[in-house]
Amino acid sequence: MINEQAWRQLQEELVNQNIRLVAVSKTKPVEDIRALYGIGQRDFGENYVQELVDKQSQLPSDTHWHYIGHLQSNKVKFIAPFVHLIHAVDSFKLLKEINKQAANNHRSIDVLLQLHIADEESKFGLDESELIQMLNEYCLEKAALKNVRICGLMGMATFTENQLQVKKEFAKLNSFFNLIKKQFFHSIVSFDTCSMGMSGDYTIAIEEGSTMVRIGSLLFGKR
Ligand SMILES: *Cc1c(COP(=O)(O)O)cnc(C)c1O
Repeated sequence: MINEQAWRQLQEELVNQNIRLVAVSKTKPVEDIRALYGIGQRDFGENYVQELVDKQSQLPSDTHWHYIGHLQSNKVKFIAPFVHLIHAVDSFKLLKEINKQAANNHRSIDVLLQLHIADEESKFGLDESELIQMLNEYCLEKAALKNVRICGLMGMATFTENQLQVKKEFAKLNSFFNLIKKQFFHSIVSFDTCSMGMSGDYTIAIEEGSTMVRIGSLLFGKR
């Protein structure tokens, strides 16, 4: 069951601020995705390759599929034919594999790099110096990486009741996003997306400059 009213409210709120909504449909049945598609949602997020591939084949081809989970290099080939945006790239090796598989499919794939902002060991992502290093590597090999486009950053805040902490983490992500945007202005022109905010913290993320939110349970119910 989808929460149509929540979608309409969210949609209105986000459209006014030019923020994109990714409806996170992981673990939810295809009927729910179809229902949300039916009222106008086009961007959906999944975090398991097999589940994404299965669902993709059952929805109209103008659905935009976002891969929001941790992606292993050896699985890129399964989603490369259709994926719209890969949110959580965290190594140069993975970036190169995405480029390779995109080329095999005669297309270009958009990606975000994941910055580790949470106060938790378990969350994936790069720290600031690793991320800068990766962007420098990318710039050096840019001519060979024509089939991948770096479009911005993604991050996940700590799962905590402490709103001030969440706010600080999102602020950190956004200021780093703006820094890179400035610093790599000439070499990475597609850098315009700051993906942050989930059901429990998206209002804070928006206050801190999010341009794309990833919302699951608010729209599809608890998992
Ligand atoms: C599951 C998930 C979400 C959505 O979480 P909700 O709390 O259900 O909104 C957002 N981003 C990522 C990376 C996720 O894995």
